Amino acid sequence: MKFSDLALIEPIQTAIAEAGYTEPTPIQQAAIPTLLEGRDLLGCAQTGTGKTAAFALPILQRLAQNPRRPEPRHARVLVLAPTRELAIQIHDSFRAYGKHLRFRTAVVFGGVGQAPQVKALSNGVEVLIATPGRLLDLINQKYLRLGGLEVFVLDEADRMLDMGFIHDIRKVIAMLPAKRHNLFFSATMPPDIRKLADSILTEPAYVEVAPVSSTAELIEQSVMYVEKNRKKELLRHVLKNPALKRVIVFTRTKRGANQVSEVLEKSGVVSEAIHGNKSQSARQKALENFRAGRTRVLVATDIAARGIDIDGITHVINFEVPNISESYVHRIGRTARAGAPGAAISFCDAEERSFIKDIEKLIAQPIPVDRTQPYHSDQVENSRLLSKGKAKAAIEGRQGGGGNRRGGRPQSGGQRGAKAGGSGSGGGRPQQKPQQRSQHGGGKPGPAPGAGSAGSRPQPRR
Ligand code: AMP
Repeated sequence: MKFSDLALIEPIQTAIAEAGYTEPTPIQQAAIPTLLEGRDLLGCAQTGTGKTAAFALPILQRLAQNPRRPEPRHARVLVLAPTRELAIQIHDSFRAYGKHLRFRTAVVFGGVGQAPQVKALSNGVEVLIATPGRLLDLINQKYLRLGGLEVFVLDEADRMLDMGFIHDIRKVIAMLPAKRHNLFFSATMPPDIRKLADSILTEPAYVEVAPVSSTAELIEQSVMYVEKNRKKELLRHVLKNPALKRVIVFTRTKRGANQVSEVLEKSGVVSEAIHGNKSQSARQKALENFRAGRTRVLVATDIAARGIDIDGITHVINFEVPNISESYVHRIGRTARAGAPGAAISFCDAEERSFIKDIEKLIAQPIPVDRTQPYHSDQVENSRLLSKGKAKAAIEGRQGGGGNRRGGRPQSGGQRGAKAGGSGSGGGRPQQKPQQRSQHGGGKPGPAPGAGSAGSRPQPRR
């Protein structure tokens, strides 16, 4: 199928062509015709599947075909997203896809001054993208009203619930006009999400696409067994390979992220750390530097990495193995975006072995062991498996409780009521068929590993 087979108007077709897209992704093929008809939609899909264009294109078309000036302090379309990073990305997507159309758009999120956001809303906007906390703050101060809203999009609903936003969402829903077009997206559909969807949608069309994790067949995965105190040396070694062009290194804690970034800087690797203790502007700047290729390595905690959609990330390195298996799937999904290849390497010490076992259960595949790296430890590989609880307690005890824990709210500086902590358990789903890698045996120091080739332009999925 081609984009020209979809009944999209010419200014939108032009913007799509300029974005370099040729074929609609499966979710776009399924969702766009339905949404153009004005039907409610329940979409089971992750970020990375082309979901944003799937809803943004038909919404832009609706606005273009029914031009109406929004009233001051009103919006015609509201997109709710769980994190500011995702909100900014959605905003950027609307602007890119709507670049040949006339409409006003604004994005509002916490952690920054509200004055520019208030100003942006003062004359009314067609499209508003918001995180729940700041949205409610602005509504409570009467800078925004939801009466007259035509389209409501709830994105990443499962993460919203994970992050403790359910009450905020209910409050927003209670303010929406009864007659509206509703779109609801979630990576997973457990019963509580279904219930929430039922309370919002009217006779929705249901669209489900393979989760990113199963479309990420191109991700070359490996685990490197290493003594805990040698992980930094291993990281420096791995990064000697120039094939690791754009790399995210995940650490469990904010302090760990800072430490790793410092070690890299000292050894001449340009890197920056992002985590919830950094100001919004510092996080944005770090992301921009990374996106533009000025920074080779971004060191991140799970929460800071939510929703990062940067093309051409060649490698994800788990400096620490996540103790929540879904986080692994979520982390490695940062690479191999939109059909590009990528690699994921996990550094595993003795205490983390049980986490790897759990992950392998979730993805229903063994992760190939790379024994060719010079810091490989047979002792670690064959060490006694700790129970998951004991492993977690050992790690958290040593960290003085500073680790990211499941069920936390967004980190500081973020949406209203945010607390430090929070896990990256968002929306991962088992990988159905990760590519196998035949890197077994050996045991000798070898060339720098992890040579997944660099991702280039996003490619349409088939
Ligand atoms: P999303 O799931 O919306 O976060 O999109 C994931 C990535 O796929 C983004 O980098 C988009 O720019 C890209 N993308 C979306 N639609 C297409 C398409 N039809 N062809 C190629 N890339 C796409």
